[in-house]
Amino acid sequence: MLEPGRGRLSIEGLIVKAISGFYTVVLADGSEVICRLPGRLKQEWQQSGLAAVGDRVNISLIEGEDEAAGLVEEILPRRNALSRSRPVAHSRQLASDQEQVLVANIDQVIFVFSLRKPATNLRKLDRMLVVTEKEGLPAVICVNKIDLGSESEARAEFQVYADIGYPLLLTSARTGAGVAELAALLQGKISVLAGSSGVGKSSLLNAVQPGLGLKISQVSKATEKGLHTTRFAELIPLERGGYVADTPGIRGWALYDIEPDELDGYFREIAPLVAHCQFSDCTHEHEPGCAVQAAVKAGKIAAERVESYHRLREEHEALMRSAY
Ligand code: GDP
Ligand code: ZN
Repeated sequence: MLEPGRGRLSIEGLIVKAISGFYTVVLADGSEVICRLPGRLKQEWQQSGLAAVGDRVNISLIEGEDEAAGLVEEILPRRNALSRSRPVAHSRQLASDQEQVLVANIDQVIFVFSLRKPATNLRKLDRMLVVTEKEGLPAVICVNKIDLGSESEARAEFQVYADIGYPLLLTSARTGAGVAELAALLQGKISVLAGSSGVGKSSLLNAVQPGLGLKISQVSKATEKGLHTTRFAELIPLERGGYVADTPGIRGWALYDIEPDELDGYFREIAPLVAHCQFSDCTHEHEPGCAVQAAVKAGKIAAERVESYHRLREEHEALMRSAY
């Protein structure tokens, strides 16, 4: 606590909400302080990006205000961050202001799909996995609505991902299957739940904790209405500890800051093979001595993932061309 008459005392906390320059910071004792950024830091942080939800910060309390108020004195080093950038094609300058941190210090990203309704687009998953690999974020794949089919069907569809080490969680918000596992997975961590609308994210969260899904979808809706995500982002606390963040607009998961020729490094089963290709600039298409194609032929890695890599690379190269 702040002793009377002592100037600034720095207290560590976690940003759980950021709206238009106001940050809600939760302290170790669970209390909340609304903080602003001091002007000098705003300038300084214009380059590196302003504070975001998930950031751990040192704050000082401002005395004499009704509500607990404070100033963010320092953003502690980030372990990782999910950012989004404006589509490169629409912006000619590749300045740092393109990057906007959505959530910092994420413990895991849970990609939610549904077995049916809507059907899964695995190419989209591959694209998002590039982002989590690049940021070093643990990713979990959750297949919901298994009541609309069978567990073995769900497992078969996503087996490729289990084979390369992504944990697979099969759930049904309707029957409650897998919900306890999901709750255990969320406990004590900062999780990002990502997935197209309709896959059952809100239903799953409600199954974990009544009312939780509604809170998350309110944040999403506000964002869809045009409120900016960096100005309106929130970590929703879990009763059993931990937080859930929602990332609206997954299409915003641009392959920010990735060169087309380094893309293969973010496909975790392809990455270790690249050094064994005969040519250092191998695109793994039809070059002789390609270790990636050899691994596909030998049945060691999935052809669909390599296909996905090629498509992403083409798409990404086209974007880069149009940007310059
Ligand atoms: P969100 O957009 O990802 O948050 O998806 P919602 O939670 O709003 O769910 C979309 C629709 O799918 C709703 O009609 C839900 O009732 C339904 N739904 C959600 N989970 C399940 C499930 O496990 N099984 C079935 N059969 N339907 C589900
Ligand atoms: Zn190759």
